[in-house]
Amino acid sequence: MPRRASFPLALTMGEPAGIGGEITLMAWLGRAAGTPPFVAIDDPDRLAELARASGANVRGVYQFDLGRKSRTATAALTGLGKTRRILLSDTLLEGFSHEEISVVLAHELAHHGRRHIPKLIAAQAVFGTVVFYGVVFALRAWGPGLGVDRAADPAGLPLALLVLGGAGLLAAPFANSVSRAMERRCDDDALRATKDPGSFISAMRKLSRLNLAEESPPAWVERLFYSHPSISRRIAYAEAFRRESSAAA
Ligand SMILES: [Zn+2]
Repeated sequence: MPRRASFPLALTMGEPAGIGGEITLMAWLGRAAGTPPFVAIDDPDRLAELARASGANVRGVYQFDLGRKSRTATAALTGLGKTRRILLSDTLLEGFSHEEISVVLAHELAHHGRRHIPKLIAAQAVFGTVVFYGVVFALRAWGPGLGVDRAADPAGLPLALLVLGGAGLLAAPFANSVSRAMERRCDDDALRATKDPGSFISAMRKLSRLNLAEESPPAWVERLFYSHPSISRRIAYAEAFRRESSAAA
């Protein structure tokens, strides 16, 4: 493989889902241009105010249909630049109070304020590049012994997949711990922005019930496999926040 091709290829391999998602979203938004910028909920001003307070330059808050496919509820901040917007699932809008939605939204806005999306894309691009060079190294070092004499030989694919899979497996606990730290910070921001630990806790309980999450997984399972802190940990954190704020008042 020509050397010059390595970097862009590694870049796309590093973030296939994210970039692909952005492109799909932009295409979809091009079609849905007439969609109103804020979903029809009773208190869109409150959501808009939360967005402004977090410094988020979001285009709006949109509803997307999830209820037909699933019972889970979710909110997400998506898009880059001008396509940045907040998506709330119909299941979230139906089953949650406005205060609970505000807390969930504040959490998503915190991801935006802390620039987590570009940071994650950059980190994945770097990781993808390193792993890609690891694959090239492995093919050169062990390929000849396995009868693979060129990197372009398809017979080298199992070895390449072994390195890719192994790297992903080894990196997952580290990536998850970084992700959990980010989520924790956003929970903290959401609690500070809304000053509503009660709604945070009830939203967490509802989310965990809908998403069939295990509230208190064994610590080692959480450490290895969880991208978010466990529900019990998030609730305990909100309770500590409530104690601290009532002590300060
Ligand atoms: Zn989050």
